[in-house]
Formats: sequence, structure tokens, C-alpha cells
Amino acid sequence: GIWRLSKLGVPLHLDPGKDFLDVSEGLLQEIAKVLKFPVASMLPPEAFLVVRKSFDARKVLKEPKFVYTVEMDVHKLLTLEPRTWDFISRLEPKVGLIEHIEHMRGSSGDLVSITRDYKINKSAESIKGESIYKEGSDDFPGSRRPKVAVVGSGPSGLFACLVLAELGVDVTIIERGQAVEQRGRDIGALMVRRILQLESNFCFGEGGAGTWSDGKLVTRIGRNSGSVLAVMKTLVHFGAPESILVDGKPHLGTDRLIPLLRNFRQHLESLGVTIRFGTKVDDLVVEDANVVGVEVSDSREKSEHNSQKLRYDAVVLAVGHSARDAYQMLLSHNMDLVPKDFAVGLRIEHPQELINSIQYSSLAAEVHKGRGKVPVADYKVVKYLQGEDGDTSFDSGATSRSCYSFCMCPGGQVVLTSTNPSEICINGMSFSRRASRWANAALVATVSSKDFGALNCDGPLAGVEFQREFERRAAMMGGGNFVVPVQTVTDFMENKLSVTSVPPSSYRLGVKAANLHELFPLHITKALQHSISMFDEELPGFISKDALLHGVETRTSSPIQIPRNSDTYESTSLRGLYPIGEGAGYAGGIVSAAVDGMYAGFAVAKSLGLYSGDI
Ligand code: FAD
Repeated sequence: GIWRLSKLGVPLHLDPGKDFLDVSEGLLQEIAKVLKFPVASMLPPEAFLVVRKSFDARKVLKEPKFVYTVEMDVHKLLTLEPRTWDFISRLEPKVGLIEHIEHMRGSSGDLVSITRDYKINKSAESIKGESIYKEGSDDFPGSRRPKVAVVGSGPSGLFACLVLAELGVDVTIIERGQAVEQRGRDIGALMVRRILQLESNFCFGEGGAGTWSDGKLVTRIGRNSGSVLAVMKTLVHFGAPESILVDGKPHLGTDRLIPLLRNFRQHLESLGVTIRFGTKVDDLVVEDANVVGVEVSDSREKSEHNSQKLRYDAVVLAVGHSARDAYQMLLSHNMDLVPKDFAVGLRIEHPQELINSIQYSSLAAEVHKGRGKVPVADYKVVKYLQGEDGDTSFDSGATSRSCYSFCMCPGGQVVLTSTNPSEICINGMSFSRRASRWANAALVATVSSKDFGALNCDGPLAGVEFQREFERRAAMMGGGNFVVPVQTVTDFMENKLSVTSVPPSSYRLGVKAANLHELFPLHITKALQHSISMFDEELPGFISKDALLHGVETRTSSPIQIPRNSDTYESTSLRGLYPIGEGAGYAGGIVSAAVDGMYAGFAVAKSLGLYSGDI
């Protein structure tokens, strides 16, 4: 049997450090303690596998520690000499009683092998004459392989495509942006020469919005679920380090994402997937409320004559939440789009050393720009604000709101995620070592239809209008040319602009001092101000003259949801259309988008008769 031992704490001075993922002596001692086994050195390290390792430096602890989850293979303990084994086997019933031990869930492989197993089973069935699909041929119900278009190559689109292609579907990915090689050059031109390519930037292109990102793979949808593990193992299959399977806060960084995406692409091509970069879906081809194809054009050509209609058996819409033109196009087909709550705010940047010393005190010296024993420090703060009776300071009506940090990038930089030169919105990215001098995070307040209404933003795209309003204001406050308006957090707290020469920022396109109180309605600004003072109680030193607030962070999650059938993933408005991922309101982040894409892939395959299992 395999048993899981969790919450095993190894004090920092006994641990080899964040990069060591094997079983150390210190860990063996902790395991022995939990098992009540007298001699740690007699336990065979090969009987244990580290499945999670995180760093805990909370001030309440006497000493910071690494916290492990470990799988124990009871059979491997058989390699022990008989007398020791005797001891262990007498102990085993007790092991089951130890409250830290959970039964290991059935772990799944990566998607490539999951779908391959499925194909092997299917070809076995075909020998029995039951299969409708024969591997390597074009036979589909006696005629041809079904054709599916996946619109968008972000995590949701890529994973949907992977499942479909592995199951034998003839898939075409249609992506308005460029492949990572060209996209890298376009982003370089933006950073150095301020040239924003409208179709190839931080949001659009191979890999989607997450490619030039922090590559954090944390998710709120259940770290140990089979689906998340399948996504993580698939990423490892395509080149991510195995440590992401173990690290409590897994992180890739842009430099690792790029080769990973190239490997992903090569695999899809080897399965016969057609990938059309620089091709934008302008419209759906709809016949009798059925989507039967898409109308596309070359996204870099302005001419109206380059449009083309392509027919498909199903269309997977994985366009992300920055494709505002796609929402408009869906509305022109009378599709149901439902406004959704999200969050807006500012991005705060501190010197990384300051965050290290707030979080680690004297231990901060161990960080050494990501090369040290302990990880570069991060933080996560959340506060729920409610006015006193009748006090609506924090809201535009009757509701309270939450304020929280979001997408914290230790050792990262602030980047421009606008897709239009007259709008400014920002986000954060990092490289794998997280070695920059800066720590940035969004500080956002939740907003709902009451807030949209207060700004006269109505209709299904009210949230989009609301975002756009602040993105335009930020562009004007910055004075154009992608310059970002900034204010020191100390000035923001006092609603004044005392410094005209602001502290340096990691944002490469320039910053300009401005009073960010002029950006949002008063109740949002007050909520941010109030929550920052509460964050400072939790993280003393957070309010610092060296901390700079940048405007504006608006695209935290999708402002709409596209209703779909929960079993089939098909749109409730149009048959043959499968809205997925973040843009459709079903994900928030790289991993959850990938998981949604994976399930959608199986659901579409099921509707085409190529998959008969559960979704
Ligand atoms: P997207 O990734 O947005 O992909 C949509 C794709 O569709 C794009 O490539 C776009 O070009 C294409 N497309 C749009 N319209 C059309 C059209 N009409 N025709 C053809 N193609 C079209 N998440 C994390 O979990 N961790 C992080 O560290 C993290 N950091 C981030 C940093 C930045 C700078 C940004 C911008 C985002 C970050 N995110 C992060 C969020 C994460 O990237 C998204 O949640 C995720 O990419 C959503 O995946 P998706 O597949 O739903 O959509």
C-alpha cells in the first residue's frame, strides 16, 4: 500500500533548501517521529517520495520550516532487515490511526498518456468490430474524421486541442496572434520602441495571456485533484521541471514557458493539428441556430478582401477576456452574455528586499536573489470591508466589498497588457529565477453591477465598458505613449501628491507621478485605502515611501459569462459552439483554464461520438 504523510515540518537549519526535493536526513527524522519509529537512519529513503514542499516562515513559528507531504510505499519497507520489518509491521495498524495520514488518491498520468490509453482501448474495441474510429485513418462513422476549430491558443484552447487531437479529431487552431518566436520579437519592439502590435502582444499570441507572465501554477480548484495533476504532468511532459509536481507554490516563469509551448506545438503538429497563426475569427457561420464554421481573416492585413469562410463540425471558443471584439460579435448573434462581478484596482510595487525583510526578518539574508536556501518572499492579503450601519463608504449601493492582493510576482516586473494604444492596463511577469529587484502585486476591490450602473455602464457588456473607462483614464493620466500613472503608497494614503520625482519602477515604458484618487469612484478608492492600512497591520512596513502604486489593474477575471450546458459544454444559445476558459467566465488563471479546456475537449469528443466515458 501507499500511504500519504502530510504536514511534516523540517526546521530550516536541518533542511538542504528550497531546490532539494529528495528525502533529506532532516525529513527522515521527521517521518520517524510521526511513525514513532526509533531510529530514523534505519528507514530506507527509497520508500518515501516527496509530493509537496512549501516554505513556512510565519512569525508565530519559533523557527521557519519547510513543510512536506510524502508518500510512503509500505512494500518498499520490506527491503529492511527482517527484525526492523517486524517492528514496522507491528506498527502498521497504528499508522492508519495517525491523523496526518490520508489515503493516496488514484493518481493520473499526463493527458497524452490518458488519451493514448483511451485510443489503445478503442483500437482493441475496433478489433471486436465496435469502434467507430480507426487510428491513423480518416474513417469517421464510415465517412471522414470530424473537423473541429479551436479559436485561441491560450491554455484552455491548447488543452482542448490536445485531448481532441489525441482522440483522433481533425483539429485546426485559429490564433489571431503570432507563434512564440515572432511574438517575442513583437513584445521586444513594444518594450524598446513602444510599438504595440494590436494582434501580437502580452495578451494575444501562442500560449495566450499567460505566456509572458509569472507562470504561477497555483490554483484554487483543488491542487491534488486528478484533473490538475493531469495538467501539471502534461506540462512536465512538454518540458516543465518536475519540481512543479512537488512545489507548494509551483512557478514556471516566462523563460520556461516559451520552449514548453514550442514542444506542445510540435506534439500537436505530429498529431496532424493545423495551426493558423495570425488568423483572426471575425464571425461565426450560423445556420438554423447551429454553428457550422467560422469566418476568418489575416490579422495583420487590413484589407476587407482577405476574409474566408471555413466549415467545421464544432467550434471551441477559447478567446480569453481581452478579446472584446469577440464579445461584440457574439452579441450580434443574439447570444446570451451575462455580466459577472470581478475586481479592479492598482498594482503595487515594493523593492523585493523590503518584502523579504517584512516576511523573513533576519532570514532575508538567505534569499540571495532566488539562489539561496529559502524562496524569494511573497505575500497574499485579503480583507472584507463592510461599512457601519448606513455607512456606504466602500460601496456604491448596499453591498460590502472584498479587497485583496492578486497575482503577486516576487522578483518580477510590471508589464503593459493593453491591446489598444488609447488604453492602459498592467499586470506582472517574472523569469524562473525571480531575480529582479522588485516585488509587485495587484491590489484590487471587487466590483459588481451596482458599480457598473453608477457609471452608466449597462447591458451585457457593462463590465467591459467599466474596465475600459478606467483604462482610458489611466492612459490620459499617464500622458500617452504607454506611460503609466503612479503614486507612492504614502501619498495615496494621504490623498496628496508630494513627490514629483517618484521612486524607480520596474515598468520599462515610463511612469508619471499622478494622484490616483482621480482614477476610481470615491468608494473604490476608499476601499483600497482602508484595506492597504489593514494590510500594513499584517505586513508592517507595507506602507512605505519606496512602494509605488501603478494604475490600472482591470483585467483580473472575465467581466462576463457565456452560459453553456454544464454536461455538454455547448453554448445554451447556439448549438455546435463550445465557449471555454477565462473569456467565457469558467476559469481564472493558467491551470484552471487548462483544466476547463481538458474537460471541454472530452465533452466535444463525446458529442462527436469519439469518447464515451464520464466527463
Ligand atoms: P487566453 O490565455 O487569454 O487565450 C486566448 C487566446 O485567444 C489568445 O491567444 C488570443 O490571441 C486568442 N484570440 C482571441 N480572440 C481571437 C479571435 N477572434 N480569433 C483568433 N484568436 C483569438 N495566470 C496564472 O495562473 N498565473 C500567472 O502567473 C499569471 N500571470 C499573468 C500575467 C499576465 C501578464 C497576464 C496577462 C495574465 C496572467 N495570468 C496568470 C492569467 C492567465 O494568463 C489567464 O488566466 C489564462 O491565460 C487564460 O487562458 P485562456 O485560454 O482562457 O485565454
